[in-house]
Amino acid sequence: MTTIPHWINGSPAAGDGSQTAPVFNPATGQEQARVVLGGATDVDTAVQAASAAFETWSESSLTQRTQVMFAFRQLLLDHEEELGRIISAEHGKTVDDARGEITRGREVVEFACGLGDALKGSFSDQVSRGVDVHNFRRPLGVVAGITPFNFPAMVPLWMHPIAIATGNTFILKPSERDPSAANFVADLYQQAGLPDGVFNVVHGGKDAVDAILTHPGIQAVSFVGSTPVAQYVHDQATKAGKRVQALGGAKNHAIVLPDADLEFAANHITAGAYGSAGERCMAVSVAVAVGDAADGLVAVLERKAREIKVGPGNQPGTEMGPLITKTAQERIENAVTTAHTQGATIVVDGRGLKIEGHEDGFFTGPSLLDHVTVEMDAYQEELFGPVLAIVRADSLDDAIDLINANPYGNGTALFTASGEAARRFQRKVTVGMIGINVPVPVPMSYYSFGGWKDSLIGDSPIHGPEGIRFYTRPKVITTRWPQPTQHLAAGFNFPTSN
Ligand code: NAD
Repeated sequence: MTTIPHWINGSPAAGDGSQTAPVFNPATGQEQARVVLGGATDVDTAVQAASAAFETWSESSLTQRTQVMFAFRQLLLDHEEELGRIISAEHGKTVDDARGEITRGREVVEFACGLGDALKGSFSDQVSRGVDVHNFRRPLGVVAGITPFNFPAMVPLWMHPIAIATGNTFILKPSERDPSAANFVADLYQQAGLPDGVFNVVHGGKDAVDAILTHPGIQAVSFVGSTPVAQYVHDQATKAGKRVQALGGAKNHAIVLPDADLEFAANHITAGAYGSAGERCMAVSVAVAVGDAADGLVAVLERKAREIKVGPGNQPGTEMGPLITKTAQERIENAVTTAHTQGATIVVDGRGLKIEGHEDGFFTGPSLLDHVTVEMDAYQEELFGPVLAIVRADSLDDAIDLINANPYGNGTALFTASGEAARRFQRKVTVGMIGINVPVPVPMSYYSFGGWKDSLIGDSPIHGPEGIRFYTRPKVITTRWPQPTQHLAAGFNFPTSN
């Protein structure tokens, strides 16, 4: 059986190799590889390599750095199918869905290709007589990214292209459940001409994370994952004096108003709820049906949910693959049972689904729950699976109040034909990313991605302009070049302009 190694200083590295974890194929339920689990020693080895690489990489020109990004972008395009299959085999999502995540990640590389413009400083002439001010930003040093299982390519790509293009060196600690995409990307970077040690991968779980959070050689940590771990990472890393961005979990609501095109809304909500088996931080997990919209909406959602083709992610025609682990499969099916016990109506029941030839796979079918109330576990918990809960509300304002009372604030959507309703919604709702007739409003790479409330711990969204800010720190320079004959008096008062 293959053991997936770390990638340190431009080569695969076994590390101390004392611990490994299984990597499953979720469609078959079989263990297909093992991954090394790093700890303090492996993280330290990676930090040494990244620190040495920082000395030269941080002095390389903007042109050299963006040229690596242009080459890397082309390699991501050339190898999209191959990388998509690697992701599908370990995550379970369809190959086309995996290609979608690679595309959305590649867009951040494209943003990094334009860094020359995005990183420009500013210059103020003659702020005082003979005095000018300008600013520029410098990289931090060695920075680290800790990422979740659900986007093994895209979420790391939200981080490392910007960190690297701005002159930092990077250590990625991907999810131990689907680790291979990280090593594949490391190889592409090398082919793109990135010097050894600039991009490193240390695999592992909590031990590797703890070693990153406390290592004095790491300046900043980017985290994406569940809220409790985001909170932990934020607290530990800030305590250790590091800059942190920590994105957490979600419970995303889509409101449907009676004036919406119900067929259109149901179509898009179905894709947003069940795509990638609901294992997206921007998945629609609650549909809020307002007033008369409810019965018609439920009828269309039921029809759509029953039409979804569930199967192995590498099989053409599959729309929804398995869940990531057997535990996740059991957790989701138990959640549907609990919802029923607590009074929800099961409109579509995904429990117990068996796929022929893949009986041991971690499959569950799409589940649709109606008459869900805010007290129920199915509403309160982030289920992170193919379960859509329908909550009924009397008005748009009631629906907004519901969303605002929810502890999460990652994404939300409104389906309506009314511009006034859309404007009221986007101004009032306490959520970071909002879609109007768009179910999964993931911002483009040149905007930044980040929720509010428990969906983002601290205050730093990810990629786009916020990414540049996060991975650099500013310098402001005040300059005077007096003529040799000028004899300016130095004042003892605090300097002011004149
Ligand atoms: P997770 O929090 O379990 O794991 C994320 C990372 O933290 C992994 O690398 C994992 O190895 C590590 N980790 C796990 N437990 C840890 C612990 N106790 N101490 C230290 N490190 C630990 O998340 P997951 O299950 O891989 O991913 C799903 C979660 O990620 C969902 O909650 C989802 O909403 C969230 N997510 C959020 C966003 C976003 O942008 N807000 C994007 C994708 C996923």
